[in-house]
Amino acid sequence: MIPKTMKAAVIHEFGKPLKIEEVPVPKPKENEVLVKVVTCGVCHSDVHAANGEWAVKPELPLIPGHESIGYVAALGPYVKNLKEGDIVGVPWLNSTCGYCSYCSSGKEPLCTDQHNSGYTVNGGYAEYVIANANNVARFPKNGFDFKEMAPILCAGITVYKGLKATGISPGQWMGVSGIGGLGHLGVQYAKTMGFKVVAIDINDEKLELAKRVGADLTVNASKEDPAAFLKREVGGVHGMLVTAVENEAFGQAIGGIRPGGTMTMVGIPEGSVDVPILDSIMNEITVKGSLIGTREEMQEAIEIALQGKVKTVVTGAKLEDINEILPRLKKGKVEGRVVLEISEPL
Ligand code: NAD
Ligand code: ZN
Ligand code: ZN
Repeated sequence: MIPKTMKAAVIHEFGKPLKIEEVPVPKPKENEVLVKVVTCGVCHSDVHAANGEWAVKPELPLIPGHESIGYVAALGPYVKNLKEGDIVGVPWLNSTCGYCSYCSSGKEPLCTDQHNSGYTVNGGYAEYVIANANNVARFPKNGFDFKEMAPILCAGITVYKGLKATGISPGQWMGVSGIGGLGHLGVQYAKTMGFKVVAIDINDEKLELAKRVGADLTVNASKEDPAAFLKREVGGVHGMLVTAVENEAFGQAIGGIRPGGTMTMVGIPEGSVDVPILDSIMNEITVKGSLIGTREEMQEAIEIALQGKVKTVVTGAKLEDINEILPRLKKGKVEGRVVLEISEPL
């Protein structure tokens, strides 16, 4: 039985605590399903959303959350690929148009007619969430931990795709800057791809975590210039994935890339990065942005996690804890990921 109302954490005003309240359970429309949420990860993008930190702000009130996993509880009209009880993930790309040139060429994150869970439509900080049947992630009936798997839906897929976007080869050096939710998974996906990994952060505890999950070298950017370290220790990295939430990390990272190398930016602080023109030309440095990943890449990132090759370092929390978690995440005080445990797995 689906109840009429559900508990949710709702943003009413930017920069203010979320309200935990009872709201109506939404009804799935055409091609949509209603998902009973078991777990939902807390991503730093939710901090940006709750504080209205990006130029394009979400409309309020809004239920954030784009790393949720749960059970299909009800089907809207015309849904053919899912049935009640299926286990699905509801990612950032809640829906895309499906027919534009991006959608039809495996570049759906670039679709200009997309909806984003927990940003342009309500997300998973709630007992139920609406998903588009064509965009959900699929999970097996058992054999995985809902808490560990939730962060793969954004953090995992984003770093998996961002690492691939550097185009480097096994055996080469990858830098991962920012060892938070994204970065600690980035180190692990990089190892599964056969790269040697240097982890960069401004916090020694995060660097300890990076070592625990497989980093070969670490450097604390608040104590030492990471670019000089990378040049000295490995001759510069071939690829660099920047997940950091501070602007200055991006400029520092460029200086540590060897000639011919590529930096992929995935962290989204405000502002811009200064790319030195002459150096970038003489050394043929590529700087590119990378946005989440396709549905296929999401399924690949999940498959690697299901095999146990990548494991989220995770702390469980209650929905009611959200106003303590978001400020802690903003201050860089979360190890790995916090995941909201909203209902029991069946
Ligand atoms: P997080 O808070 O868990 O981790 C951020 C890490 O950056 C922390 O460990 C922090 O210590 C570190 N850091 C801060 N300043 C630094 C500096 N100067 N040098 C090196 N490290 C530094 O955040 P998260 O959930 O991993 O998200 C990271 C960023 O990625 C956010 O901006 C988020 O919005 C963005 N994001 C982007 C995409 C995408 O598709 N591009 C997807 C998801 C998240
Ligand atoms: Zn995210
Ligand atoms: Zn499209």
